[in-house]
Amino acid sequence: MLSAKTALVTGSTSGIGLGIATALAQNGARVMLNGFGDVEGALAQVRRFDPEAVHDGADMSRPEQIEAMVRRCESELGSCDILVNNAGIQHVAPIPEFPVERWDAIIAINLSSAFHGMRAALPGMQKRNWGRIINVASVHGLVASTNKSAYVAAKHGIVGLTKVAALENATSGVTVNAICPGWVLTPLVQKQVDARAAAQHIDNEEAKRELLAEKQPSLQFTTPEQLAALVVFLCSPAADNIRGAAINVDGGWVAQ
Ligand code: NAD
Repeated sequence: MLSAKTALVTGSTSGIGLGIATALAQNGARVMLNGFGDVEGALAQVRRFDPEAVHDGADMSRPEQIEAMVRRCESELGSCDILVNNAGIQHVAPIPEFPVERWDAIIAINLSSAFHGMRAALPGMQKRNWGRIINVASVHGLVASTNKSAYVAAKHGIVGLTKVAALENATSGVTVNAICPGWVLTPLVQKQVDARAAAQHIDNEEAKRELLAEKQPSLQFTTPEQLAALVVFLCSPAADNIRGAAINVDGGWVAQ
């Protein structure tokens, strides 16, 4: 379905981003990965479907590196048709104890990076009159939780940014949407499970059950594969008129 399309997925060496990059490649797109950690493992997974998949090591807190990555995608892959702004980090602490440096890093990586990526990629999409921008927000783009000030501020910000970009391109073939997952069991969430298990002297399984029971009525984690299927749908012609939406995939979290 996506052959002849190119996709850049930020933060795609792990978790949700890796799931999305894999599914886009599986559907025929040529893919550029980004992120730290197990780059070779991520490339090997995606190259099962796109043997020519490449990786760019841009630090998503650095605007000039983000712009250079988009330019590299355009020159090496021929275009940047699909941009998935997914890279993200978390820090959990009440506001008086929240380190200023963590606030700045979360706003830079979880919010500003999407602006810089869109700013670099939109002109090419507008010229070709086709593009898909999918911002990985969170249920925390729609509702709040305690101790996540920077994360909730960044995710509410990216939902707003998504709407502006969608409106600015509303009469074109470029659509911009956000997806808002609830709990997904990735390294980012496993850290929160570990912290809960340690604080309450409970095991990993009990900590996971408690985490889900607190917020996610389905009591099931959403999977990266489920989110990836939604991204593939948003890239399909059936989604041509979905614009500026923030779609929650959250087991009922926001329905409460
Ligand atoms: P993860 O920790 O598994 O993956 C994060 C990815 O971002 C990794 O590839 C990492 O290398 C990359 N990254 C981090 N800092 C970077 C930087 N400075 N530059 C470039 N890459 C960087 O986390 P995940 O759970 O897959 O999260 C992916 C996105 O999904 C995030 O935006 C997160 O906020 C969002 N999200 C996650 C959940 C969840 O429950 N896991 C829920 C809602 C939203």
